[in-house]
Amino acid sequence: MPERTESESRKLLRRLRDTLATTGGGQDRLDRITHLIADSMGTEVCSIYLFRDPETLELCATEGLKKEAVHQTRMKLGEGLVGRVARNGLPINTANAPQEKGFRYMPETGEELYSSFLGVPIQRVGEKLGVLVVQSKIAREFSEDEIYALEVVAMVLAEMTELGVFNGDADGMRALHKQSVMIRGGTGQEGAAEGRVWLHEPRVVVTNPVADDPLTEIDRIREAVGKLRVSVDDLLSAESLDKDQKQVLEAYRMFANSRGWLRRMEEDIQRGLSAEAAVEKEQSAARARLEQVPDAYLRERLHDLDDLSNRLLRILTGQGQDTGAAMPDNPVLVARNIGPAELLDYGRKLKGVVLEEGSVGSHAAIVARALAIPLVIHADRIVTEALNGDQILVDGDQGIVHLRPEETVARAFRDKIAMQAAAQQRYASLRGLPAVSKCGTLTTLMMNAGLMADLPSLEGSGAEGVGLFRTELQFLVRNKMPQRAELAALYARVMDAAKGKRVAFRTLDIGSDKVLPYMKPQDEPNPAMGWRAIRVGLDKPGVLRMQLQALIRAANGRPLTVMFPFITELSEFQNARAHVMRELHREKSLGHRVPSRVEIGAMLETPSLAYAPRAFFELTDFVSIGGNDLKQFFFAADRENERVRRRYDTLNVSFLRFLMQIIDRCRETGTPLSFCGEDAGRPVEALAFAALGLRALSMRPASIGPVKALLRRVDLAEARAVIDRAMDEGAETVRPALMDWLSNQPE
Ligand code: PEP
Ligand code: MG
Repeated sequence: MPERTESESRKLLRRLRDTLATTGGGQDRLDRITHLIADSMGTEVCSIYLFRDPETLELCATEGLKKEAVHQTRMKLGEGLVGRVARNGLPINTANAPQEKGFRYMPETGEELYSSFLGVPIQRVGEKLGVLVVQSKIAREFSEDEIYALEVVAMVLAEMTELGVFNGDADGMRALHKQSVMIRGGTGQEGAAEGRVWLHEPRVVVTNPVADDPLTEIDRIREAVGKLRVSVDDLLSAESLDKDQKQVLEAYRMFANSRGWLRRMEEDIQRGLSAEAAVEKEQSAARARLEQVPDAYLRERLHDLDDLSNRLLRILTGQGQDTGAAMPDNPVLVARNIGPAELLDYGRKLKGVVLEEGSVGSHAAIVARALAIPLVIHADRIVTEALNGDQILVDGDQGIVHLRPEETVARAFRDKIAMQAAAQQRYASLRGLPAVSKCGTLTTLMMNAGLMADLPSLEGSGAEGVGLFRTELQFLVRNKMPQRAELAALYARVMDAAKGKRVAFRTLDIGSDKVLPYMKPQDEPNPAMGWRAIRVGLDKPGVLRMQLQALIRAANGRPLTVMFPFITELSEFQNARAHVMRELHREKSLGHRVPSRVEIGAMLETPSLAYAPRAFFELTDFVSIGGNDLKQFFFAADRENERVRRRYDTLNVSFLRFLMQIIDRCRETGTPLSFCGEDAGRPVEALAFAALGLRALSMRPASIGPVKALLRRVDLAEARAVIDRAMDEGAETVRPALMDWLSNQPE
């Protein structure tokens, strides 16, 4: 890098900083900046275009073009050279602008006089703010160094914008992070919430983009990169990493050790940027480059690089995760992703959760569901768009987020929340009443749980017991295997809180989407159909036995209900059941009190079990249909795959006919049957199940009210007749017929 440009760009940055430090309105500052840049770069024109809205750029200040055009000249994203710079996030440098593809002449600016054009994006990591342009009469291409210098200046402008330096009277200028944004993601957990953004990992704010002493800054960046490398190595040496985590960290290490990265940041510093600003500049540049790459894998690496840059910024600024900001009222957690333990730490104080990544079956989603917090996943760019304290609306039903909403949107949304709250109130009045339908049939409604914190809902919701207690949550949120005594104490507290109501403890259901952080993950091509749930329990019975012992001790003379997940054939159930018998015997011989009564049941989650020998139905004390898994195998549609998971209707006649067979088989042997998948909590589905003859349903506590209200309103025999008729008539799904019939039922 020639020394001349180096010191000039530093001089320019210093002048820029001094200009920005003076008092004056936003417009005044912008005007002075364009003058300064044109003067320093030896060009006749310097203009700043900023986004007026996400699709429109506006000329906000100029030196050299006609002043009347300021705040008048506008262009769409992608339109003309300026629009192209903005869209692609990359510079355009040309000696002959009018000849350039896509050139658009703006007569009101008088720019026809100028031949050469250099435009660079004004952007902050992932956030496009505008375009900085210089133009001159003589036809010449700008040198690499000039481009570089202008990019550095644009970077400082972006930082200054973030700090609000131009806010005020710069009419028409887009104020960053002020606009309302709607983001369409996916549903992780239903429900609606209004609150204020609480960033799980707040962005580091760079307050000093320009630095005078490059040597000090270079020392700082080298030291920080050194620390970063050590921290990545430390992470890599952790024992409990699975293959994917290792791969990600290997990629981190590669970036962290990349000579090119450090060299480019050092060059930025030589040109006058502070160490922090240099990190951000490279982060933005890498982002712009990678966003152009069609390869999904490479674009994924963007995240790694972003993450690494953020870590480096934290090291440099000494800003930890905790910036000292106070959590707002009604916090809505916004994060790229979050682990189950961290989410559990926040607990119920969160009103909602919005994740940029995440998946329906992720541990975070499981915890959000257990906590009944509305969750939106795949909310693209939310982490860059949101600032701590921003107003945010989370629509978990639709998978939509409104950030800094317009008042009309917020009002409509509040109406929706109010309606839901009113409905909840109505349901509360049903709390003590049974779910008896008009025909006199009683359906037992129970709740699903997985955390101690769920138990208060037992009373609040009017549930008659816990039909499914997912014990794996206790295993998932720890970083080491829980001890037997710990589990026994916890299960005892669950039983205490249930006050004699039945709690069906499902033994550990891991594998597939649920991977314990401290267990060696299996490299399986298809984990949902792999080594999971009871298969793991039977093959490696140590944990299963420990869990059974904990349950027996927790019961301490009280009745105990144990349920095995994912039973596929009779012998599996026989083996699992034999473990309970053995542990009961062992506990007794150790002199411990055994439960007064033990119920041992199986979850029916694979179609095969429906056709098991009669001996299975005779042996098991009850069957609980795990509809989430059962449906995914029945329709061959992955429950976690957004593309297919809603593709097939639960009320599809094939599935209902299959349920009818299960109901018949249980009836033949007098085996109690329940349904505990998510569908049990959807009122219309619950109604169909009850009409088919399912007498027990277990669901999220919040669903009990709506399901009960509907069941009490209708005659199940009539509903059954509607279903049968639709089936006879050859319908693919009975939903339209059922909905039609329902719409004619009195409230
Ligand atoms: C199910 O599969 O329906 C079920 C209740 O279990 P989980 O969702 O925990 O797999
Ligand atoms: Mg299941």
